[in-house]
Amino acid sequence: MTDPLSPAPPASGPPPTERLYWTQPQARTFTATVTAVNGQLVALDRTLFYPEGGGQSCDAGTLEWEGGSAKVSEVQKTDDTVWHTLEGHPPTVGSEVTGALDWARRHRHSQRHTAEHLLAQAFWRVNTAFGVRSVGMRGPECTLDLAGQPGESHVLAAQALLSEMLREGLSLETLMVPADALAAYPLRRPPQVSGQVRVVLFRGPGGAIWEASACGGTHLPTGVQAAPVVVLKTERVRNDLTRVTFMAGEEAQERLSGVYAQAQALARGFSVGIERLPERVAQLQNELDDAERRLTTTHRELASQALKQATWHRVAGGEAALVQPADTLPDLPQLEHNELVPYLLELAARRPECVVVVLAPDGGCGVASSLPQHSARTLLNGWLAQSGGRGGGRPELARGATERPSDFMNAVQAWLDALPCSQ
Ligand SMILES: [Zn+2]
Repeated sequence: MTDPLSPAPPASGPPPTERLYWTQPQARTFTATVTAVNGQLVALDRTLFYPEGGGQSCDAGTLEWEGGSAKVSEVQKTDDTVWHTLEGHPPTVGSEVTGALDWARRHRHSQRHTAEHLLAQAFWRVNTAFGVRSVGMRGPECTLDLAGQPGESHVLAAQALLSEMLREGLSLETLMVPADALAAYPLRRPPQVSGQVRVVLFRGPGGAIWEASACGGTHLPTGVQAAPVVVLKTERVRNDLTRVTFMAGEEAQERLSGVYAQAQALARGFSVGIERLPERVAQLQNELDDAERRLTTTHRELASQALKQATWHRVAGGEAALVQPADTLPDLPQLEHNELVPYLLELAARRPECVVVVLAPDGGCGVASSLPQHSARTLLNGWLAQSGGRGGGRPELARGATERPSDFMNAVQAWLDALPCSQ
């Protein structure tokens, strides 16, 4: 990403920059002359630094000159000039500089990019409907957005095809081709540039072209240097667009080793071999589901008991009660008293002609009402106003939490005491 605070390169000015990253893709250092300086931005007559573009992040590294040096943190291209953003004082125009790439970074980017070409080609060969719409290679998890809806069988087929070709051997060739001569190459996508077009080929055994694209990025000399290429997942972005997430090379190896180590630690914790981990997790999930079902049944039974033991006040049209599970079921731990609130309200809501107020020790509270003259929501909000807290709901059922449970209880008790008796 471009730093929004970086000054913009001037609209016109310095001569084009010779792209050494195309002509000397394996070189790590170079010398050049400064052709323009604008704030922290420096243009050179030639550079190895790849500018951000085509889904690939820019190179980074250092520039050194007589009496100074600076880190290159950002590289962008405007027209044919490459601008290097420096951290620190820039050299003056005309200075001779020596540039050095952060090679590990360049290598990672080239690995991702090489893998992107080869995986895209493999999908295309599985089905030409799976054309590339866009690519993202700015992080270790790269993406290919493909047209159509490749499924699991297509992913397996593309990975198998790619593995076979990596085993057979694929080697890189890049060349500049006039736009009107491009028909000689089986390009996957029509080029987006005119004039001289940079064509990237990967040739298989016997020199046959296996992959051909118009591309300005950096790549590795052989396909196998991008291995392993691993598809992590696919997801439907839109009806006709599928995102394939993949990793390549050392980044893929590190990720897979890390995931394996985690799986191994889990398996050890469960005292099973790593191959039995899915089975063990499924078994635990079943046990958990079963325990949750039994707990729900127990909670419902306890709630039913608490409701039965409540002191009921007779009111016009029915009856009313305040249920405090901590009072009616004192032998239960407090945590369970709090857990009972939703079950009590669920049961109370099904009981005809009554108003039930529930209050747990942690302040969890609610009201269920089947009497139209008493709105659960209005009652609850009134008591919460007196005891602090928040809540809401419908006229039949409202839930909340009070800050001061004893004040809430007193307010409810006062309301119950003031109710006219129907006897
Ligand atoms: Zn490329």
